[in-house]
Amino acid sequence: MRISSRAEWQQQSRLLDERARLGRLYADLRTAATSRRDYEPHDVTDDEAAIQADAIESRLAAVDEALERIESGGYGTCTACGSHIADERLEALPAAALCRRCAG
Ligand SMILES: [Zn+2]
Repeated sequence: MRISSRAEWQQQSRLLDERARLGRLYADLRTAATSRRDYEPHDVTDDEAAIQADAIESRLAAVDEALERIESGGYGTCTACGSHIADERLEALPAAALCRRCAG
């Protein structure tokens, strides 16, 4: 493992927390989507649970990509234009791959 700066280490631990949280959410939703067929419909339909699970899946992918960028040394650099992603933006969105201009 590459020795990361302290800021990167902090972001890495935030991303790992987020990944664990999303992973639990994802498992719950998948279970809900499959087990609900045995029950009467609740407030969330199978389709809605599946859509939410898909959204979580793509957020998980973004978190994994951010963790890979920390390992490879590309974290904090916009994957589209190569400019530095503002610290405030990374603070708010640790998995951000794009700078504000490219994301906007
Ligand atoms: Zn950019």
